[in-house]
Amino acid sequence: MHFSLMKQKVTDEMREKVRKRAGHRCEYCLLPERDGLIKFHVEHIRSSKHGGSDDLENLAYACPDCNLFKGTDLGTILGEDETFTRFFNPRKDVWEEHFKVVDCTIYPNTEIGEATIKIFQVNKLERTELRQLFAEDGLYP
Ligand SMILES: [Zn+2]
Repeated sequence: MHFSLMKQKVTDEMREKVRKRAGHRCEYCLLPERDGLIKFHVEHIRSSKHGGSDDLENLAYACPDCNLFKGTDLGTILGEDETFTRFFNPRKDVWEEHFKVVDCTIYPNTEIGEATIKIFQVNKLERTELRQLFAEDGLYP
């Protein structure tokens, strides 16, 4: 199948549903979407490569940074015992159980949170600085 046809499986209508469900925020780092300056992505929680479907239950709204650092990954290896730990799943997990925000930095409450923060690089300086700008307007977290 041609790549562009595969892309069409997530329709504009689905994209709008995902966007609304997420409250117009990244479901991973909670960055608000504003002014359409940065185009957010509808991403597959489990990537197509790993058998993920195009159903709404497998879709999440993500800022470009979270989506790009995640790529098609499902999780990462943590700790000396090299345990595979999956990423946070916005459809199954509750954000506050896995993360907390202190001064625009996101900290893990769990290993799932730790795996997600590490691979998504949510605390890169330019990202915390951007969140700081939103925080000053009362829009973050
Ligand atoms: Zn994000």
